[in-house]
Amino acid sequence: LAATSTAASLALTLSGCGESTGSGESGAKGDTIGIAMPTQASERWLTDGKSVVDNLKADGYQTKLVYGQDSPKTQVAQIEALIKQGVDALIIAAIDNKSLNNVLQKAADADIPVISYDRLILGTPNVDYYVSFDNEQVGRFQARYIIDKLGLEDGAGPFNVELFAGSPDDNNTKYFFDGAMHLLQPYLDTKQLVVRSGQTGLKDVTTLRWDGPTAKKRMTGILSDSYRSKKVDAVLSPYDGISIGVLNALKENGYGSGNKPLPIITGQDAELASVKSIIAGEQSQTVYKDLRELAAVAADMADDILNHKTPKVNNRRAYNNGVKAVPAFLLQPTTVDKSNYEYVLVAGGYYTDAELKK
Ligand code: BGC
Repeated sequence: LAATSTAASLALTLSGCGESTGSGESGAKGDTIGIAMPTQASERWLTDGKSVVDNLKADGYQTKLVYGQDSPKTQVAQIEALIKQGVDALIIAAIDNKSLNNVLQKAADADIPVISYDRLILGTPNVDYYVSFDNEQVGRFQARYIIDKLGLEDGAGPFNVELFAGSPDDNNTKYFFDGAMHLLQPYLDTKQLVVRSGQTGLKDVTTLRWDGPTAKKRMTGILSDSYRSKKVDAVLSPYDGISIGVLNALKENGYGSGNKPLPIITGQDAELASVKSIIAGEQSQTVYKDLRELAAVAADMADDILNHKTPKVNNRRAYNNGVKAVPAFLLQPTTVDKSNYEYVLVAGGYYTDAELKK
């Protein structure tokens, strides 16, 4: 209820802004939406960018899509340029959630509404709506997979696990990690799970910019420091690119051959390389988030705002960004492994069979 009334009052404010630019009732068609995405280095954001553009075009909008190459500075400059070019709304997936305060003040001064896409932008009142997935659920799926596969509920163990988290400047990181640790902590307490590296706090396990090679390096260090005579049984990984990095470190250390099977290793995004790795029996699991749905909701939000309607929100608690409660729409993720990828990803039209078998 709180979220809805915030949304309603925001919509009123925004409709005031829209009228002052003279866009009128159905005047939004032909408006231009600026879309700022974080990086082209990860496949998911390419899909996001394309899907948002496709949805907006289908609604009659023009679009300007930019990618920030994982550099917060570049992203700020790009958003500044979009504001100067006179975009009518902004959809932003932030690289560093705290670096956008100044540039978003400029957007507010120009009456440009802002939708925070996938990652919540923090510390500024100038973000109007948030669209994402249930990010704690992502972490819970990863933990649940480890718990089930190791048989922890049946009392099995002790097992060695290592923990990886995402980029410290991404607000999602703590939601994924907290969601996972909420389920794993009881088994750390009973010592059915042991983290031999001793690295268990979020700040010890983050991976700047979600970078696979950074994760590989950390895993290599952990293997040589803590696993000379032991083996890793599971790795909590928050993202497919990190999972691939971790897998490479493990394989270089002899895992996956002889009497050293690969550990259980989770992931996120159902990126092509990781789904192939799952089919090949290397990565164990990933969390699929249908980016086509995320993009469609973001495009609808922009369309509603520019047409003076109140966007639909669905989460009971608005996400607090430190300055304001941002009304949010959250979608549901799906856990995927070898047993259901065909049903979820192929029958669901996300990948063709040919793409996965190539
Ligand atoms: C997204 C994840 C993605 C990660 C790295 C997060 O903010 O929610 O889907 O794996 O960024 O790109």
